[in-house]
Amino acid sequence: MPIKILDKEVVARIAAGEVVERPASVVKELVENSLDAGSSHISIEVRGGGVSLIRVTDNGAGIAPGEAELAFGRYATSKVQNLEDLESISSLGFRGEALPSIAAVAQVDMVTCATGEKAGTYLGLRDGAIAGQRSQGRPQGTTISVNNLFRKIPARLKFLKSVTTENSHIANVVSQYALAFPEVRFSLFLDGRVTLRTSGSGQLIDSIIEVYGVEVAGNMIEIKDEATVPSPRVTGMIGSPKVSRSGRSYLSFFVNRRWVNSRLLARAVEEAYHGLLMVGKHPIAVINIWLPAQEVDVNIHPTKSQVKFSNERAVFSTVHRVVRQALVEQMPVPEVKAAAAKTLFPSAVREATSPPYAGASPGPAPSAPTPAMSLPVLRVLGQLNNSYIIAEGPDGLYLIDQHAAHERVLFERIEQQRSQKEIEVQGLLEPMTLEVSPQQEAVLRSRHEDLAEFGFSIEPFGDRTFLVRALPALLHDKDWAGMLRELLDSFPQGDSGDWAKGIAQSMACHSAVRAGQTLSDAEMRELVRQLEQSTTPHTCPHGRPTMIHLSSGQLKKEFGRT
Ligand code: ADP
Ligand code: MG
Repeated sequence: MPIKILDKEVVARIAAGEVVERPASVVKELVENSLDAGSSHISIEVRGGGVSLIRVTDNGAGIAPGEAELAFGRYATSKVQNLEDLESISSLGFRGEALPSIAAVAQVDMVTCATGEKAGTYLGLRDGAIAGQRSQGRPQGTTISVNNLFRKIPARLKFLKSVTTENSHIANVVSQYALAFPEVRFSLFLDGRVTLRTSGSGQLIDSIIEVYGVEVAGNMIEIKDEATVPSPRVTGMIGSPKVSRSGRSYLSFFVNRRWVNSRLLARAVEEAYHGLLMVGKHPIAVINIWLPAQEVDVNIHPTKSQVKFSNERAVFSTVHRVVRQALVEQMPVPEVKAAAAKTLFPSAVREATSPPYAGASPGPAPSAPTPAMSLPVLRVLGQLNNSYIIAEGPDGLYLIDQHAAHERVLFERIEQQRSQKEIEVQGLLEPMTLEVSPQQEAVLRSRHEDLAEFGFSIEPFGDRTFLVRALPALLHDKDWAGMLRELLDSFPQGDSGDWAKGIAQSMACHSAVRAGQTLSDAEMRELVRQLEQSTTPHTCPHGRPTMIHLSSGQLKKEFGRT
């Protein structure tokens, strides 16, 4: 093909692709515009995962009648004028790309009325071109409706995930801005249901209650920057180590109120929690970083979600110091014992070991046992570190991780009971309530039937609250609420994964004996006996080893005998 310049429509669509990746990107751009317009109320209505409809209504400054059409022109913005402005951006938008990009991939209708105007303006766009314009009354503010997103781009539609997943991304975007702007009243409606509503009180804790629930909010610690150096300044709230989560999605960073992704900042916070959380756990934090606009470059990526600090080191160390200080003040006695016990096993022994089942992890499917995988009869000798069972077999020594081994045993039992529809259920005398985040709610609503198969009886009970009437008997006296939240959190990424298997794994993990728990001889023998009978004894359901085997030959070699 000869080289030629692409025509306008192709260019518009390519550019749109950079800004509008999925429905949640549209929500983000429209909400940012509403915030830039100084709105105190922002309402977001979504249907069909955002593909059918996204409508954002605000009470901000509005657009003057003469400028409505211009707002949809490429690189048309009221927020920067020249190169100097670009050096110190104080608004969320500045590229003038969002509205034209959205109009290139959807039908857009806007009704807006600017401060001081008597009549408002309606503007309709089809295929990126103006299809209708007239005056239309409305109170001050702007409503933008986006219909049939990506309808003309089947390739993009195909890459979208389920409605549940897209809803959960949207709920996340709105939740983040609700955390960043506690003085703004947000309402989010997903398919007609209120999913999030904040009061606009101006208090961060009120937004945290709405987004994460009262339980998390009750365990948040305010962070205060007491240093005398003015920049950067760090404010916000962090979770006490008691309310950690299994993913990083509960870390929110706002730089001059812009929601950003930053590995640097995540590391600064996580390092501040060092030694305070169990392995694999992550903190909850809402961190605001304030610094002069010239000290941060936001013009790095079309989605504006990444920033570059001119002094990265200062930002890192301030965030780290402020978070650590707040933690140390609140938590004089860190609970690190359990975490330490899990990793105490000396690596030298691991290296010296080459088990006969090397390469067996993550293990074949439980239904396909092979002779090499089975476990000989073992004699229990004792417990090491309250975490490992020491046992003797026909060929040498076995060190068994009690938690991982019990997880394996329970996992197989749960899978078997479920396939025979025989899960043991424990009814609750008084139903208990379970509060979840907007994202978790979306998942729970679509999945509570799968959970029912495992013995959970859960029904909706008002705003992001569910009533739990029965539980799998295994979890009765365990942290089942924590388990459910963790499970719901791990779902959006594992969309297509095996949800049922995930439930079984999670139930097994939460009901198994812990590291650090003393076991009687009888209990150890029983656990080992059950492990001997399981189909895949050498790995836990996540694929990690349950044991280390030192054969008699290896022992001899270790001690220098031949
Ligand atoms: P940017 O936000 O980068 O300026 P956009 O394409 O998102 O670019 O918006 C273009 C312009 O339209 C904005 O600069 C602003 O003047 C106007 N605008 C968009 N949305 C709103 C709104 N909700 N309220 C008031 N003005 C708006
Ligand atoms: Mg914008």
